[in-house]
Amino acid sequence: MKALLLTGPSGSGKTTLAQLILEKYPQFVFSVSATTRSPRPNEVPGKDYYFLTEAEFDQEIERNGFVEWERLYSGYRYGTLYRELERIQALSQVPLFVKDVKGTLNLQKKLGEGAISVFVLPPSLQVLRERLLQRSPEPPADLEERLARAEFEIQLAPAFSFLLYNDDLDKALRRLEHLIQRHFS
Ligand code: ADP
Ligand code: 5GP
Repeated sequence: MKALLLTGPSGSGKTTLAQLILEKYPQFVFSVSATTRSPRPNEVPGKDYYFLTEAEFDQEIERNGFVEWERLYSGYRYGTLYRELERIQALSQVPLFVKDVKGTLNLQKKLGEGAISVFVLPPSLQVLRERLLQRSPEPPADLEERLARAEFEIQLAPAFSFLLYNDDLDKALRRLEHLIQRHFS
């Protein structure tokens, strides 16, 4: 199945890049994840995430509703619903996934050869910290957890199809567009 998977540490810029690609390339459709965390002020339920209660998430696990799921920051769970993949397949568009590193590795295995994975690399852990602080009005309670996980995730970068260095956003976007034109046109 053709698919574009963006991964990398939290705060590396994968959602920002995904939004820019979705605006410009109508062949892609965002795969909406389910999560138990609460929406951020700018997030729209059903568009950014399916926001589920702990009980609703448990029910989906029981009925084997998830392609993959994981417990991440502050114990919140995140996962890809089979229902979401079916929704996208019915649209005849290419799914664009934005997931953490482990979720992306699992998905890549399931989706097979047509899936291209891109690891978004921040310039440094210090810059990553600044970006995470800039994104939330309040410093996220799980900031140190996100940064500690980033160190582990960066070690897994070679497992993905491409590395995308996100220092300057315009340059990173241009490199990503180049890659898309090579693989998806
Ligand atoms: P992720 O989806 O990987 O967690 P985001 O896309 O939410 O990360 O980006 C985290 C923060 O960093 C956001 O506030 C975003 O605007 C900012 N950001 C992303 N890329 C860059 C960049 N190249 N330069 C400066 N800020 C950036
Ligand atoms: P955030 O809380 O910042 O939106 O996301 C935290 C992390 O969860 C990010 O690295 C994000 O990519 C990841 N994530 C989002 N959806 C999923 C999913 O469906 N599965 C997995 N494994 N990770 C996800």
